[in-house]
Amino acid sequence: MNDDLEDLYQQVILDHSKRPRNYGEIAGAVHVHGDNPSCGDEIALHVKFSADGGVEDIKFTGSGCAISQASASIMTMKLKSKPRAEAGRLLGNFKTLVTSDTEPDTTGLGDAVLLRGVRKFPQRVKCAMLAWRAFEQALSEGGEVTTEGPG
Ligand code: ZN
Repeated sequence: MNDDLEDLYQQVILDHSKRPRNYGEIAGAVHVHGDNPSCGDEIALHVKFSADGGVEDIKFTGSGCAISQASASIMTMKLKSKPRAEAGRLLGNFKTLVTSDTEPDTTGLGDAVLLRGVRKFPQRVKCAMLAWRAFEQALSEGGEVTTEGPG
């Protein structure tokens, strides 16, 4: 990353970790708990799916390092109100962005793109992926029934 990008990355991560967006719980939503013991990050993700499986509402609570919290905050902004297929596409592209050397289609990822720098640091990848893995689990648990995630 060049210096300008590095500055922007720092600003965005700090801003989201200090003032997380969509922070809170949703009654009756799919609930998934995720943690990253190596860093001490925790997240509880709440996803309310619409009748057709889209992401009607999404919120999170949690604690941990700036990257884990900022990634969760940015993720909820990007996934909220998205049809199921689009949400799945964003999830897949973000995973590619931070875990591989190939460049995915980053359309719709917004500031999440700034997290691509973590790909060089396996421990940080876990922080950045924590919320997205929780969302992946929420997707697999469906969209109609209220479930409690394991743990
Ligand atoms: Zn972390």
